[in-house]
Amino acid sequence: IERFRAQKTCTTCPYCGVGCGVAATHKRGVNEEISVEGDAQHPANLGRLCVKGSALAETLGERGRLLRPRLHGREHDWDSAMDYMARKFARTIAEHGPDSVAFYLSGQLLTEDYYVANKLMKGFIGSGNVDTNSRLCMSSAVAAYKRSLGADAVPCCYEDLEEADLVVLVGSNAAWTHPILFQRMQAAQTKLVVIDPRASATSEMADLHLPITPGSDGALFNGLLRFLSEENALDREFIANHTEHFEETLQTAGEWTPEKTAERCGVAVADLQAFFTLFARSERTVSFYSQGINQSSSGTDKNNAIINCHLATGRIGKPGSGPFSITGQPNAMGGREVGGLANMLAAHMNFEAEEIDRVGRFWRAGNMAQGPGLKAVDLFRAVERGEIKAIWIMATNPAVSMPDAARIGRALEKCPLVVVSDCVADTDTARCADLLLPATTWGEKNGTVTNSERRISRQRRFLAPPGEARHDWQIICDLAQRLGYGEQFDYRHPAEIFREHAALSGFENQPGTPGQRAFDISALADISEREYDQLQPVQWPVNNANPGGSRRLFADGRFFTDSGRAQFLPVEPLAPQQQRSGDYPLWLNSGRMRDQWHTMTRTGRARKLLDHSEMPQVQIHPTDARDCAIDDGQLVELASARGRLRGRAQITAAQKQGELFAPIHWSESLAGDSRVSALAEPAIDPHSGQPEFKQVAVRLRPL
Ligand code: SF4
Repeated sequence: IERFRAQKTCTTCPYCGVGCGVAATHKRGVNEEISVEGDAQHPANLGRLCVKGSALAETLGERGRLLRPRLHGREHDWDSAMDYMARKFARTIAEHGPDSVAFYLSGQLLTEDYYVANKLMKGFIGSGNVDTNSRLCMSSAVAAYKRSLGADAVPCCYEDLEEADLVVLVGSNAAWTHPILFQRMQAAQTKLVVIDPRASATSEMADLHLPITPGSDGALFNGLLRFLSEENALDREFIANHTEHFEETLQTAGEWTPEKTAERCGVAVADLQAFFTLFARSERTVSFYSQGINQSSSGTDKNNAIINCHLATGRIGKPGSGPFSITGQPNAMGGREVGGLANMLAAHMNFEAEEIDRVGRFWRAGNMAQGPGLKAVDLFRAVERGEIKAIWIMATNPAVSMPDAARIGRALEKCPLVVVSDCVADTDTARCADLLLPATTWGEKNGTVTNSERRISRQRRFLAPPGEARHDWQIICDLAQRLGYGEQFDYRHPAEIFREHAALSGFENQPGTPGQRAFDISALADISEREYDQLQPVQWPVNNANPGGSRRLFADGRFFTDSGRAQFLPVEPLAPQQQRSGDYPLWLNSGRMRDQWHTMTRTGRARKLLDHSEMPQVQIHPTDARDCAIDDGQLVELASARGRLRGRAQITAAQKQGELFAPIHWSESLAGDSRVSALAEPAIDPHSGQPEFKQVAVRLRPL
């Protein structure tokens, strides 16, 4: 007698932007059991998983899950919950206009969820007010790619990290945040330079670590551009044939002598020269950057300062070369492909009149948004001012993750209608909700995600939804139908949504639509349900010219700008908006821990990942600890002009004097006064709207 049946499902890890393939085995029967291993066939990880991915099976189960809709704390059936929501949204729109409502999405959502949310808000409700927590992690990289390359188009692939002579990791602790990519670099014995104010697991493995002054990256790469010119390390032919605005950019960078750059960056001239020389001499160089560059009030300029150095040396579109922005979340890229950012329309199109018209005809939409909506920080300000009167927050926790987080909670409490759909029942944001809707999560839902190298992979279901949980795309389509748009939201399967999304990417796609051409996946527009089920990981563009996908972009030296040339951007380095003062004499930096993810709602369930600390550990340089009379392990308080945080002191020389570090994972519901983001000013980058999280002025005291 067969006691159990084992079923193996190939899916994708729900954590970081590496997007590793996971093979989940579900043994049903007397001893039901789920186990996971790396998918050896997936090109991102080739069978490897980091400690978080390896513990995925331990995070499953109904404990802590939201299982039924709840309205004002009482359980309701789906029909009455959705009726209530639709009535409230319809009345708010009728009385106050489309811009009085908003959706706030998440890089955890699948592309199909994102697509229908964007379509409903921008095509039918008629507002651009759809933004996403991806605004907090990579929107400056998007803005910089668009300014320079003409589209939000990542040039590189993961093999470039192995084929490079040199990888420059800027503002990235990849050993902890993108472990499988870091392992790939190590296995390839690629030379590594790490540029990061603090010593980390990544810098320990580096050939050279430049612990620069926080926020001085723009000056550093201006200094590098000048050095490359002085040393005749430029690719003059590439610059002449494929770029514009080089001379004025070099002129702006020209003032950054090695001495001035070293002083601004707080490093020795000799160390700076060592980095510059390595860069100049390494024909194949990848710059690999992440939140340390993006989470800045001048993050877009910093991205462009890096891209400038790659254009100046022609190191883009070639094996082992390129400016490579690495996304933090599993589907930050998929979200931006379908218009999850308030300033994008759909399929990488902007709010140009002809693009609004084209998308409107494709969707048969009667009420297209005519311009961008509000970006995250401005969106929650509008909630606070009472201008947004109904907001639906999906799969994210802005009451923990947004800057000045306590203010977000207060704004939501005043908002007439807050809907939160999530898989977990108790989060800081869920506590502010009028209506809570139970959503499915990893292992229970079907769809696609796109990782940092533009690779579209399937997330596949191997578990039944618990309780009455529904898929996000189904809940969105239910609302659309109740608002009267049923015909355009009559999907039965995520493959139908994916087909439509792929068709839109190629709809009337012709010269004059550079951004859209970059992203085109129209070869997948006729995919059957069976083919969708079996879809193998593939890198966009996927079209007639590249039916098997595209490993890297710009190999032909043609860019997606109107002129076909890449744009140099002169960068005037700016100091962080949040400056230290007598009242707040220290800088707080923040980031992930190795074994945890976001607000620990999933990773906190796995025993082997659980950190036994009940509160965040605050890393403090020994001199600062002595000056503040703090012992290792002691309770401490950080205070900024915005809020406070309680944590436990960890005294370490990994921190520079005058700078602290705390992890981002704790929330009020886990431990009061423990949100790092509550300390941050809502200072934003003017181009991207991304908040500055990496340099927060604070003071420190023992408790
Ligand atoms: Fe998951 Fe990222 Fe770890 Fe891969 S590296 S297993 S995607 S957390």
